[in-house]
Amino acid sequence: MRTKLTRPLAPIVFLAILAFAPVARCAAAAPGLPPATALQQLLDGNARYTTDKAARPGSRPSAAAQHPAAVILSCADSRVPPEILFDQGVGALFVVRDAGNTFDRLALESIEYAVAHLGTRLIVVLGHDQCGAVKAAVDQYPKPTDSVMLKNIYPAVGKTHGKPGDPVSNAVSENAILTAARLAHEPAFAARVADGDLKIVPARYNLATGAVTLLPPE
Ligand SMILES: [Zn+2]
Repeated sequence: MRTKLTRPLAPIVFLAILAFAPVARCAAAAPGLPPATALQQLLDGNARYTTDKAARPGSRPSAAAQHPAAVILSCADSRVPPEILFDQGVGALFVVRDAGNTFDRLALESIEYAVAHLGTRLIVVLGHDQCGAVKAAVDQYPKPTDSVMLKNIYPAVGKTHGKPGDPVSNAVSENAILTAARLAHEPAFAARVADGDLKIVPARYNLATGAVTLLPPE
């Protein structure tokens, strides 16, 4: 009896799933690439870039739905273009850039959109050597300032103040580490970071070699 009922129903159920599938995709983000897979895709691309084997797959115009492998929060510096240095094509990276690669409300909402609606499960905070924004913060610290950019970088300058080595270089790494940690504590991300569903990684770009180095988390 059960068999007789199930058989005629099966095609109807299948058609119903097909009919509602597009709606379901719009309502909730389909899970994107696992964070470790996405990170490997970026590191492989960076290896191609630094060895002069860049392929930039998919670097043609596209109006297809976007499912970026990663969010990149990078400095606006013209020498740090994420799509090129990770050798990724159109639709592969959701890039948020500002001087000093920190975030305010607007940048945060942009990142939240990619994570909540595009299924992106990896965020890379990318600092770089010779960063003018970080140098400005090192020069100004600890003078009071109205600059959001300087205020956001000050914690990294404060934490590395007086340490051995180049103060700007030290603050560049610390700024990426602290910014990644700040992001990880944002209410929109904290629970997913805790269960490993979302990964937020600090990294540093070398202007001269083109190499991206992952930094230790805070
Ligand atoms: Zn910079």
